[in-house]
Amino acid sequence: IPDTDRRWAWTEVDLNALRHNVASLKRHVGPGVRVMAVVKADGYGHGAVRCAKTALNSGAEYLGVATVNEAIELREALVNAPILVLSQPPDEAIPLLLAYKVMPSVYTPDFAIRYAEAADAFGIRAPYHLAVNTGMNRIGVRHDQVVEFLSQVSFHRALDLVGTFTHFATADAPETLDFHIQTKRFLEAIQGMRVAGVDPGIIHAANSAAAIRYPDVHFDMVRPGIALYGLHPCPETRTMIELKPVMSVHARVTDARLVPMSEGVSYGMNYRSPGSVKICTIPVGYADGLRRGLSGRTDFIVSGQRFRQVGNICMDQCMFEVDMRIYGTRRRVDPQIGDEVVLVGRQGDSVVTLDDMANTLGTIHYELSIGFAQRMPRVYV
Ligand code: PLP
Repeated sequence: IPDTDRRWAWTEVDLNALRHNVASLKRHVGPGVRVMAVVKADGYGHGAVRCAKTALNSGAEYLGVATVNEAIELREALVNAPILVLSQPPDEAIPLLLAYKVMPSVYTPDFAIRYAEAADAFGIRAPYHLAVNTGMNRIGVRHDQVVEFLSQVSFHRALDLVGTFTHFATADAPETLDFHIQTKRFLEAIQGMRVAGVDPGIIHAANSAAAIRYPDVHFDMVRPGIALYGLHPCPETRTMIELKPVMSVHARVTDARLVPMSEGVSYGMNYRSPGSVKICTIPVGYADGLRRGLSGRTDFIVSGQRFRQVGNICMDQCMFEVDMRIYGTRRRVDPQIGDEVVLVGRQGDSVVTLDDMANTLGTIHYELSIGFAQRMPRVYV
C-alpha cells in the first residue's frame, strides 16, 4: 500500500523543476564555473539522494553536506561525485571520511594533522577544503592567518588541499559593505597563499544569493542550496533568474461537517464560526512542519479556490473553513472527504508559497521546507 494511502498527507518533489533550476544556475554562472549542489539537511527537506542524483545529471559536479552521516547516505546510495562536508567533523569521524572518500572542511591544525596521520597509516592522501573566516565568524581560519595555518600543517605530505572557500553572511541582504569586506578579505587570503607558493585549489564562496547576484565571486565553483529547490534567497534575485519551486505540500480532507453559528473549533476554541460554515479537517499538523504559528493565518487550496485555515493547528491535524453563506454565489467548491487540498503549491489560479508562510511567521522558507519533511511521505513527480 503506498504511503499516500496510509495517510492522506504528503509532499511532492518535482524533479523536473529541480533540473530546470540547476540548468538555470549553470547558464547564469556560465561555462568554467562548477556547481556544488548543496543537499544538506536531506536536500532542504526534498530528499538528498534523489536531489543529488538529479542535480548531478543536470550539470552539477560537486555535492555539499553538513554532516558525515549525510555524506555516507549519499555514498551508500552509490553517489560517486566529490562530496564536501561544509564543517569540520569530530576527530572520531576521520576513519569514516577516509573509508567513504568524503572531504572535510578544515580549519584547525590539530584536526588537519590527525586526518593526515590517519590517511598516512593507510598509505592514502587526505583531501580537504580549507575554510576561511572572512567575517561571518562561524567557522574557518581567520583570513589573515591562512598562511600561518598552512605553514603549521605543511610538513604533512599526505594532506591534499583540494579547495579553499569562505561563506558570506549577507549575500541575501540589500547590498552591504560587509559583503564587499568579506570578498576583499577572501581575495587577500588567496593572494597570500599564492605568494607563499601554495595552490589554493578550487576557490569557492557563493551561496545561491551570491551566485545569482554577484558574478565577481563565482570563482571556480558556486554552492547553491536554496535556489536548487526553486526558492529565491531574497527578493532581489526574482528578476535575475527563473526558478521553479520543487516542493509542494498536499493532503486530503478527512472530515467535513456543517457547524452552526458561534461553534468553537480546535483546542482553545479561539475561532468561532461566524455563521453556518462547513469545517473540513486534514491530517496535517505541527508535527508535520505546519507550524502552529500559522493558525488562522494561512490558506489552503481546494479545486483552485482558497480557504482559510481556522482554529489552532493541532499536532497531527488542522481544520479549514468553507463559509456556506457565500457558497452558491462566489464559491463553487464544496469540499468532501477525500478531496485534495494543497497547502503549498499551485492549483488552478491559486497559489500558496513557502515564502508566503515564511513571511507570515517572520522566518525564512529554508526552515519551512525542512519542517515539511519531518513526517509526511514524499512523492517524486
Ligand atoms: N555554503 C555553505 C557553507 C552553507 O552553509 C550553505 C547553506 O547555508 C550554502 C553554501 C548554501 O546556501 P543557500 O541555500 O543560501 O544557497
